[in-house]
Amino acid sequence: MINLKTHIGRWPIGLFLAGLFFAASLGIALYLAANSVFTQAELTRAKARANLYQTTVEDTLRRLDYLPFILARNKMVLRAANGLDRASLSLRLAELAEKSGAEAIYLMDMDGLTIAASNYGSPQTFLGQNYRFRPYFQDAAKGRHAEFFAIGATTSRPGYFYADPVRNTLGQTVGVLVVKADLSRLTDIWRRSAESILVSNADGIVVLASDPDWRYGSIRTLGHTRRAAIALERQFGTEPLSLLDWKQTESGKVTFQGNEYLDVSAKISRQGWTLHYLGNADRAREQAWFVVILSAVLVVSVIAAVNFFRSRRLRFALAASLDDRARLEKEIEDRRAAERRLEKAQLDLQRASKLAALGELAASITHELGQPISAMRNYIAAEELSGEEDHTGLVQNLSSIASRMENITKQLRFFSSPVQDPLGPVLVKDVLAGALSLTKHTIDQADITLRIDGGDIPEMISANAHRLEQVLVNLIRNAVSAMQDCPIREMAIELVADDFEITLSVSDTGLGLNNKAIETLQEPFHTTRRSGEGMGLGLAISTAIVKEHNGRISAHQRKSGGARFSVTIPRLATPKDPQ
Ligand code: ADP
Repeated sequence: MINLKTHIGRWPIGLFLAGLFFAASLGIALYLAANSVFTQAELTRAKARANLYQTTVEDTLRRLDYLPFILARNKMVLRAANGLDRASLSLRLAELAEKSGAEAIYLMDMDGLTIAASNYGSPQTFLGQNYRFRPYFQDAAKGRHAEFFAIGATTSRPGYFYADPVRNTLGQTVGVLVVKADLSRLTDIWRRSAESILVSNADGIVVLASDPDWRYGSIRTLGHTRRAAIALERQFGTEPLSLLDWKQTESGKVTFQGNEYLDVSAKISRQGWTLHYLGNADRAREQAWFVVILSAVLVVSVIAAVNFFRSRRLRFALAASLDDRARLEKEIEDRRAAERRLEKAQLDLQRASKLAALGELAASITHELGQPISAMRNYIAAEELSGEEDHTGLVQNLSSIASRMENITKQLRFFSSPVQDPLGPVLVKDVLAGALSLTKHTIDQADITLRIDGGDIPEMISANAHRLEQVLVNLIRNAVSAMQDCPIREMAIELVADDFEITLSVSDTGLGLNNKAIETLQEPFHTTRRSGEGMGLGLAISTAIVKEHNGRISAHQRKSGGARFSVTIPRLATPKDPQ
């Protein structure tokens, strides 16, 4: 059983913790790298946007800055400054304002009183108003070009003021011509772009912003003196100029009203203004997290897929090996069953053939021995009845009967040898010599001419020498018997070897086979011999013995008369043989 305290799944807890630590470290490293890359990309984008907005602000501010300079040199303006045709100048200025897109154009005398204005017909006309307190008036009255951002004292609308002195022919300043530009179009565009942009002035007060709520707030603490000076100039009307929740954090970042931004600032070449483009700092973090989560999902998916395919392969392999094993076990079992059946069949066959042979043998022995025994009885009874003293005839008869009975027992001995003797390497010529020594006497007695060809070849076979001798003896005796009543009695024994086999044949000039096939002659108890001379078992047993030696036995009718019996046995390969 798995100990849950030391194992999680198949993993030991140590390995699991190490894996977890490794994965966490990898995740953190990936997050930091991705965050840095995405932050850098966001920063690059923010810089490009900041540059764009800086250019548009400067272009907008530049658009009308030449106008007061040109108008201040206009004759009508000079005449009006000198107290002539002021009403017609107002008409002319209205036309000019309309054409140039300025919010208002007006002329002030040296006291700061507006003496002609483009908005002369409007309820909030500047005509008759005194703007001496405005720095732009004071600077222009001193003969300088001046610019100033302020909330309108009359209209309460913010605007950018350009002022230039109006000089008479003597070069004395006799008035101040002012153009007021409306910058609200600029901030409207920013708002619609859904980007965060603000422009702060030299005091840190927001003068332009994409979000109207940020306007006139301060990103820096304003000193009392500055605040008093601003109030005096009425730059921001009644606006409280409250401190905005703006904090510079690490380099390039700012927290503004609870949100973190990438702060890219760009200097505007007028009024000491600075444009702040606030890039999205969260986006880089979100993208970095996305990369980490995506990578984790990918890694987990890959691991899961690999595990899935591996376990599937293992399952298949296991199933296949189980199948193989089952098939193998079945094959083994089938083979064992077949072997058992074969053994049983062989045993049954052996038993059946033994019984059958035993039965036949008993009948044959009874039959064969019956005749000489009844003959003996007859001779003895006849001898008793004759009452003769001389028993020579009886002795002769009895001895002939005894020799017949001996003949019968000889036949029986032939197949009483043990069957299971092992085979071993023997020289085939030794087997032949053994068989000849046993039959020499019989051959000589029957007055048979014997010829032996190849009787000294050195070939070897795997055999039971004694059993094979019996086969040869039987063939030789059969040949002798076949020639018994023939005038020509010649026997030829031949030993021939080829690469694989050795053939030993016995030919005679006897009665021949009379068209009988070898299969018929091999039948047990098939005999053409006289009762007591043969039992018809010799060839049957010889065939069995030759089979034990993996050989075969064949018989042919010779053309010249007589028969030829051949025994063929596989040759035993000796080391000097090429095969
Ligand atoms: P048996 O010799 O006791 O008759 P065998 O089985 O040895 O029994 O022979 C069976 C029969 O085959 C013989 O009776 C004989 O008819 C025939 N036979 C065997 N050898 C020869 C032979 N050399 N020539 C003619 N017939 C033969």
